[in-house]
Amino acid sequence: MKANYLQTPIDYLKGVGSSRADLLRKELGIHTYQDLINLFPNRYIDKTQYYKISQLQRQSAEIQIIGKITGFKEVAQKRGKRLIATFKDETGTMELVWFRGQKWIKDSLKTNKTYVVFGKTNWFAGKFSLPHPEIETLEAHESSLSSAMQPIYPSTEKLSSRGITNRVLIKIIQQLFIDTGGRFTETLSNALLSELKLINKSAALLNIHFPKNQELLASAQFRLKFEELFYIQLQLILKNLIHKSKIKGFPFNQVGHYFNTFFKSHLPFELTGAQKRVLKEIRADMGSNAQMNRLLQGDVGSGKTIVALMSMLMALDNGFQACLMAPTEILSIQHYQGLTELCEPLNIKIELLTGSTKTAKRKQIHEALESGELHILIGTHALLEDKVKFKNLGLAIIDEQHRFGVAQRSKLWRKNTSPPHVLVMTATPIPRTLAMSVYGDLDISIIDELPPGRKAIKTVHRYDNNRLKVFKFIRDEIKLGRQVYVVYPLIKENATMDYKDLMDGYESLSRDFPMPEYQISIVHGKMKPADKDYEMQRFIKGETQIMVATTVIEVGVNVPNASVMIIESAERFGLSQLHQLRGRVGRGAEQSYCILMTGHKLSNDGKTRLQTMVRTSDGFEIAEVDLRLRGPGDIMGTQQSGILNLKIADIIKDNDILQHARFHAKKILKEDRTLANPDHAVILNTYRALAKYKNIWNYIS
Ligand code: ADP
Ligand code: MG
Repeated sequence: MKANYLQTPIDYLKGVGSSRADLLRKELGIHTYQDLINLFPNRYIDKTQYYKISQLQRQSAEIQIIGKITGFKEVAQKRGKRLIATFKDETGTMELVWFRGQKWIKDSLKTNKTYVVFGKTNWFAGKFSLPHPEIETLEAHESSLSSAMQPIYPSTEKLSSRGITNRVLIKIIQQLFIDTGGRFTETLSNALLSELKLINKSAALLNIHFPKNQELLASAQFRLKFEELFYIQLQLILKNLIHKSKIKGFPFNQVGHYFNTFFKSHLPFELTGAQKRVLKEIRADMGSNAQMNRLLQGDVGSGKTIVALMSMLMALDNGFQACLMAPTEILSIQHYQGLTELCEPLNIKIELLTGSTKTAKRKQIHEALESGELHILIGTHALLEDKVKFKNLGLAIIDEQHRFGVAQRSKLWRKNTSPPHVLVMTATPIPRTLAMSVYGDLDISIIDELPPGRKAIKTVHRYDNNRLKVFKFIRDEIKLGRQVYVVYPLIKENATMDYKDLMDGYESLSRDFPMPEYQISIVHGKMKPADKDYEMQRFIKGETQIMVATTVIEVGVNVPNASVMIIESAERFGLSQLHQLRGRVGRGAEQSYCILMTGHKLSNDGKTRLQTMVRTSDGFEIAEVDLRLRGPGDIMGTQQSGILNLKIADIIKDNDILQHARFHAKKILKEDRTLANPDHAVILNTYRALAKYKNIWNYIS
């Protein structure tokens, strides 16, 4: 077979032709023979299994029945007519229905002849029917039964209505096997094949389409999933290696005065093991010649700030400046205040720059930055303005990454001749599985341990009709001097109704918690930033006891005295959002509570979300459940990674295979970075071909 034979346009395959080719392109994205061979079945049906009509169940299912047609009738309908055949076996009667192609069908099918029909059942008005069944005579069926497991290919409404049925797909794929003699170029190295006991490419392709038995099917699936994940990992890891070798960073060789003084004399608490480990990872990165590009994941309250500070001290020790960017003004102020306090004894110059920094102050900051007098700059995206010029920015830290776009991130980079080291911090746990496949090219550090002595937040689920009890609980907590959040959902499509809920809730709280004994803050997205800020500040200062809000408080706000988080209509929030909201409490020494309020009507997913929240506070575990419920696409817009376009592997279910794939991709690149070793020629060729056809998910066979 010629090397690029499989790149032949699909039109040339016998039995396809130009109109079918158009459909295949439009509906399934199949352009070439290659694409066709990689159209893997969704599932298989056991063609040795036959149903009796009396065994059929009301819910629709794909079934195969042997029987006879006893007669035809035509029934007029809105447009045209439909053809109905009465189909009988020894246990009962059902109908076969055609809306198109009736003449041909009526002429070619005979009554009182034994047929095998296959299709998806319908139950209507006390009768079972099979619309547009696949149908063949028993003799033809028996002689054609080459494989007991029949593949079911992905399809679309349009394909089947235009006559490209599953049967037709099987035919054309069989044709491709005939044309190629079933021989396909191997795409994995011999070493991998033998070490992982994988079946070869030709056997895998044959058995994925036309499995000889369950065992061979399993081997074929394993091999093809491995291959798919292997080349993705190879690509991600290579990208990372190239990044590291091409993009030079400032090597921070010294650990000096600032870091050591702080570490020895001013650290306000003992670092957790996880914090120490992560600091080591960051130090190793910044000490190398490559630019650091690291994601720091740590659940809310896990202590990312101190890690950020100590990383910035390393930059300062090497004569560089550092900056910390946060998504909101409130967060920047909190960081500024916290870090100023921590740095007090070190004689470090820190400033805050946000949208509301006054012009005179702004000018002063700009000058101090350029002269190098200013060591650390903290702020919002105001840091990205062109006027902000550093003398020598060595480290840029971005807090709560998901609020910033990639474009903004790279803008920070361009503030220097050579890019600064970049540390992105996020409290949104990305499941390891997903992180590995999507961010395989980013380095990741994880703080997976909370500081000692934290009391776990008590989480309960309460129904709306228990509101009075909940209110009493709030009153008790306020009596103890604590503060309370009450959060309402605000989901865009529903904005008007949601605002009404929020305002109704606010009013009812105002009645139950009247002034002057109680003060209530309210914050939502329709308020002017200044008003929002004012209300937030009142709560932060403890002037108000209750904060009624939409999810605007989700990110970062730190009020250690707040001990109760009430989430209204909790079933409407996503899991990660619930987890983020809960993280607003439990920041002080007191026992904290999260109360999830709902009505009685709950979907299954809604129930799972609530149960998960009540069961665990482990952000990674929650993220895994979230991933299972929503699928990878919704979690973080992973479209760009192509992870949704996996042809055969499933990053959740096939996590084990992913680990293998990653392990081997890493190992091979470690030994042979450029894949120059002749033993790796197969891998190099495949990799190149994938890159050439711009689609790593399309294999060259
Ligand atoms: P986050 O990761 O959510 O940004 P922070 O850095 O704000 O968390 O830390 C949360 C709280 O925990 C802060 O009050 C901080 O001072 C405290 N903290 C952080 N690390 C430790 C530690 N090792 N021991 C005790 N308290 C810590
Ligand atoms: Mg934080």
